[in-house]
Amino acid sequence: MSVNVAEVFGQDVFNEAVMKERLPEVTYKQMLKLMEDGGEITLELADIVAKAMKEWAIEKGATHYTHIFQPYIVSIGAEKHDSFADIPQGGKIENSFSGKDLLMGEPDASSFPSGGLRATCSARGYTAWDVGSPAYVKDGILCIPTAFCSYTGDSLDTKTPLLKSVDAVSKAGVRFVRMFGNDKAKKVRSYVGPEQEYFIVSREKYLERPDLIYTGRTLFGAPAPKGQEMEDQYFGPLKTNVADFMADVDEQLWKLGITVKTQHNEVAPAQHEIAPIFAPSDAALDSNYLVMDVLKSTATKHGLACLLHEKPFAGVNGSGKHNNWSLGTDDGVNLFKPGKEPNKNLQFLCVLACLMEAVKKHSLLLRAAASNAGNDHRLGANEAPPAIISIYMGDQVGEIVDAIVNGVPFDELPCSKVEPLDLGVSTLPVIPKDPTDRNRTSPFAFTGNRFEFRMVASSVSIGDANTVMNSMMAEAFNKACDELEGAEDFEKAAIDYIYKTMKENKDIVFNGNGYSEEWVEEAARRGLPNVKSVVDAIPAYVSDSTVEMFGKLGVMTERELEARKEIKLDEYAGLINIEARTMIDMAAKLYIPAVISFVNRVASSMSTVKSACPSADTSAQEAILMESSALLAETQKAMEDLKKITDEAETAKDYHEKVLPAMEKLRTPVDKLETIVDREFWPVPTYGELMFEV
Ligand code: ADP
Ligand code: MG
Repeated sequence: MSVNVAEVFGQDVFNEAVMKERLPEVTYKQMLKLMEDGGEITLELADIVAKAMKEWAIEKGATHYTHIFQPYIVSIGAEKHDSFADIPQGGKIENSFSGKDLLMGEPDASSFPSGGLRATCSARGYTAWDVGSPAYVKDGILCIPTAFCSYTGDSLDTKTPLLKSVDAVSKAGVRFVRMFGNDKAKKVRSYVGPEQEYFIVSREKYLERPDLIYTGRTLFGAPAPKGQEMEDQYFGPLKTNVADFMADVDEQLWKLGITVKTQHNEVAPAQHEIAPIFAPSDAALDSNYLVMDVLKSTATKHGLACLLHEKPFAGVNGSGKHNNWSLGTDDGVNLFKPGKEPNKNLQFLCVLACLMEAVKKHSLLLRAAASNAGNDHRLGANEAPPAIISIYMGDQVGEIVDAIVNGVPFDELPCSKVEPLDLGVSTLPVIPKDPTDRNRTSPFAFTGNRFEFRMVASSVSIGDANTVMNSMMAEAFNKACDELEGAEDFEKAAIDYIYKTMKENKDIVFNGNGYSEEWVEEAARRGLPNVKSVVDAIPAYVSDSTVEMFGKLGVMTERELEARKEIKLDEYAGLINIEARTMIDMAAKLYIPAVISFVNRVASSMSTVKSACPSADTSAQEAILMESSALLAETQKAMEDLKKITDEAETAKDYHEKVLPAMEKLRTPVDKLETIVDREFWPVPTYGELMFEV
């Protein structure tokens, strides 16, 4: 089955083309303006749009509609379906969907995490139509993207703060580029291209692993004889069933107007990646939810299971969501583009200075915003960016930043040319080289015209990370403007600002190997935070610098931030609690009984052999019996300990400091037993079977 992307693209989306065709011209123009500039939506306008939308959706086979929103933390969007059925009149009913239905909904907000902002007795919440994000039909439902807030106006989702940060960076960005002589730009947009990593396993095997079902990751499992050491999986050929699955995913996403472009095998066995073309960050947020949703549902359809967890398997790479991010004016200038002579490009250098200041100041908040419990298994392990935030500038730009920091005068700044790469074979083309090599060890890497924030967890929303990035840049731009606007000699003032700011924040730049032990030591000398667990990073949500930044920009109030901190801590404790209880359950009901059966069989084999032939050598059976019995006893004890510690744990800190180590203590003997016990007795699929028998 092959589909032509140009034919199917956007066919299930109520997009500009559909609006142009189906709305009266005035309404269509009003909609375009609202989508571009925002503004008040009248009920009259909503009524006209709702009518056209309803007719279009019914033609597409929709029977229901839903306001779709992303409650804070919950990774996949929430929806409550209402059918189009109206009150019967004379035994007949009409399809009904009014402007009010389109504009707003009133879901109960107390059943979602709200960090105390909502309770059962004060539960009212609202969803409000987000005109900037198009409605679409999926599985017979008309889906209307919305923002979600409480009766008191506090935002309860990931999108509202992101939208506010988009406005904030636009305002500050326009102010900033004005200083450099751009008098045309009306907006600065933030763009994101999120690369999504995931694992695919057989559904049948998935269903035999309670740990995968309840927690999304394996809590036990001895390493398979083969892992990723041969490096033969990355970009390797796709298995046919996985290729069919991906083709299906692509087709569905194209129909939903999502420009998925790249797909390939990733480093670990059974690991893959999908990436759309970058889009404005709020649209990227919505489409990343859809990508995750479609990956999961399509996998099920194909007899597979998609694991979005950050670390489904110990010992091989985990998954992240590489967040490619840039800022660009609406008249087409990418603020992160160095141009031919970055050493003379004052605006670019000033943007970089602002970025260095912003990342250094808010590094802990960035760390917290990109993370969840699952990501703790990734960050700092020898595969993902370390838990220390630093910026990689690449060769060309790095050289300029170094020179500035070392006080080389502005007109003597170096600028090494990026020479095309001639491979010396006449039949191969000369390749125009990128201005930087790749540094996959850096959490925040310059990649030529954008920064790649590589820390973001694979299963979380990209909302928080981008809200922080947009806001920290808005803050830094505003600070630069406060200092530079009205300067008598602007060029001189700007150069001074760049030198001063880069020198002050030079410690955040690191161009070396982020995986090395030397970097950990060097970072400590520089005083950069190396926070291994998200539990210790979460308080950054309410630190003075965070509250001040979000407050000044109108992105989030202190109350909302407090709530988010609480939600994140509760989420952490909740997830580890489920993991611990799943381990106890698996140990008690699966592993211990299996090992007892195995030990019994070895023991009876020993006595059978002995009675048949008293002088036979049964030392092998005895050794196996001794070792497995000892490990069995260790398992039993570790399980009892874990039960007790989990029962006593209350806070996220308890879960991190006490429960996690107790879980590790239970895992160790079980994984050792897996290498001894006969496969016939082992109660769950092994790592090898999960990763290689897809
Ligand atoms: P990699 O080779 O780093 O894995 P991919 O090609 O898989 O990169 O993905 C890169 C992502 O970066 C894509 O989503 C791409 O659209 C996005 N991207 C490209 N240019 C920009 C830009 N200027 N701003 C934001 N994202 C961008
Ligand atoms: Mg990629």
